[in-house]
Amino acid sequence: MVRPVIAGNWKMNKTVAEAVDFAKGLRDGLATEPVAEVIIAPPFTALWAVADVLKGSPVRVAAQNLHEAPKGAFTGEISAGMLVEAGCTHVLVGHSERRTLFGETDSRINLKLKTALAAGLTPIFCIGETLQEREENRMKTVIERQLKEGLNNFTADDISRLLIAYEPVWAIGTGKTATPGQAQEVHGLIRKWIAGQYSAERAAQTAILYGGSVTPKNVADLMGQPDINGALVGGASLEVDSFIQLVRYQTIQGA
Ligand code: PEP
Repeated sequence: MVRPVIAGNWKMNKTVAEAVDFAKGLRDGLATEPVAEVIIAPPFTALWAVADVLKGSPVRVAAQNLHEAPKGAFTGEISAGMLVEAGCTHVLVGHSERRTLFGETDSRINLKLKTALAAGLTPIFCIGETLQEREENRMKTVIERQLKEGLNNFTADDISRLLIAYEPVWAIGTGKTATPGQAQEVHGLIRKWIAGQYSAERAAQTAILYGGSVTPKNVADLMGQPDINGALVGGASLEVDSFIQLVRYQTIQGA
């Protein structure tokens, strides 16, 4: 049984003061241990302050990106060691905005995943097809390529230390959520791929999150699908009340 995961990706939003206010609200709002593992991914500038507020709470802190090198002349970049020092336990790798806006390739993502694992960070490995790829019936090929190349040379033990997020690019920030059936189809495919490459047991234990316009209204239906173990949420993670509702998705009617 995989513990559900609700993760918030703030992208380039919130000042340090706003991030700290949110973290305090979340910490106090989740006074008891939530059923789901809860992760928030603030921008780099707020990581340390947010991690400090959340010390001793069940909420984990993720970064939104990292560089694959341990240090060096990479202006504007950040290393895994720096993220650990700032209090991160998780890091997003391969988010579609990194792939499309910043040219991250599958092989680069593979290096970043390895670097994160070596530093003891849990990567949230993001994959997903574009609308055009879906319309051209290439969704399965794209997803399998992203898995194969992103996880190239990964052992079963490596797989046990990461989370996968399926985020159809056409659903991110668009208000167009995949239907629970569409999401389940791809989650099932991802789990089957892991079972084929590793083992059925490894596949069953892998947390596969769905991301793409998840809100308190649709979260319960998505989480009700057999292969959906969590949600990676952008827009609806920016308000603490909405994020707490997502974390408590099991109490939403119909869940
Ligand atoms: C995301 O950025 O990972 C995301 C899923 O965003 P949104 O929930 O806003 O679609």
